Amino acid sequence: MGTGDKGVEEIKTDLLIIGAGPGGLAAALYARRAGLDFEIVEKNMPGGQIINTESVENYPGIKKLSGFELSQKLVDHCRDFGIEAREYLSIDKVEKAGKKSKDNDYRFKCSGEEGVAFAKSLIIATGASPSRLDVEGEKEFIGKGISFCATCDGALFRDKEVAVIGGGDTAVEEALFLTNLVKKVYLVHRRDELRACDMLQCRAKENSKIEFLWSSIVEKFIGKEMLEEILVRNKKEDKTYTLKVDGAFIYVGLNPNSQLVGSLVKLDEKGFIITGTTMETSTGGIFAVGDVRNTPLRQVVTAVSDGAIAAMHADKFLGGLA
Ligand code: NAP
Repeated sequence: MGTGDKGVEEIKTDLLIIGAGPGGLAAALYARRAGLDFEIVEKNMPGGQIINTESVENYPGIKKLSGFELSQKLVDHCRDFGIEAREYLSIDKVEKAGKKSKDNDYRFKCSGEEGVAFAKSLIIATGASPSRLDVEGEKEFIGKGISFCATCDGALFRDKEVAVIGGGDTAVEEALFLTNLVKKVYLVHRRDELRACDMLQCRAKENSKIEFLWSSIVEKFIGKEMLEEILVRNKKEDKTYTLKVDGAFIYVGLNPNSQLVGSLVKLDEKGFIITGTTMETSTGGIFAVGDVRNTPLRQVVTAVSDGAIAAMHADKFLGGLA
């Protein structure tokens, strides 16, 4: 570690873990226990997407905890092992270091505004971001009635009426959370069957504050300064109408944050990084874990498991380089 030519920080490490959510933090723990030389960087605060999750009930051994508390437990556990993520350090570009690098063993050059890191191997743990609907008015009303985080913004809609768009675990979980605050939740789903797990479906269907708008899509967000209405189309009845809402929470899936390595590794048709069972990507030395990879299940428990596997195989990869 030192200071580069332009005064920016320069890191040289065997393993660089990019992203300090559950997958990256678990990888760091296992890397430490394996005695690896590594660094972990995070462009925001450590903890990952679950920071914004109201409650986590399916992490084995922990009955119920808020997402923030669980993420802090992961961060604290790492600290106990002397692992401190470099916070607010954004990596914007990853490239093969090539022969011109200062040391040929450092195969990858990762750069951002605050620094540059040369690494022999990488674990990409950059997660995924909420997808957008891409309909009229959406962009305009983000932060003015449209939100992607009920935990953060739910209180702004106390005793008001809101729409939650989507039918997966996130939409239903967040709709349930919102019922503690708001007067009414319209759950707008494009099919007549939810994707969310049975337990969440039952809870939502039993909740009198939730009204389901089945086979319905939002075509437009309408308002002056703030969101006032949504234009809903019922696909089955081919009927379009406006619905007065004070807020709209959009949970229609995830976009992988894979752009960093998009030109270096193979991605699936939706942009998720393709890995094998060892979490290694199509490029030797680059591993991917958690929501950014083409996993069949996106959960905290699978992300941490991916992280452990990746760290162990990064160790093997680095051993092969020696
Ligand atoms: P998801 O499972 O992909 O569900 C997205 C939902 O949005 C689906 O119901 C989908 O409809 C709908 N949708 C997608 N594009 C749409 C569009 N353009 N217009 C209208 N609706 C659209 O996403 P998620 O709920 O964010 O969950 C992501 C992952 O995290 C999943 O693997 C989930 O299991 C996991 N997760 C787990 C928990 C938990 O275990 N407690 C909590 C949250 C999330 P269709 O059903 O018709 O495709």
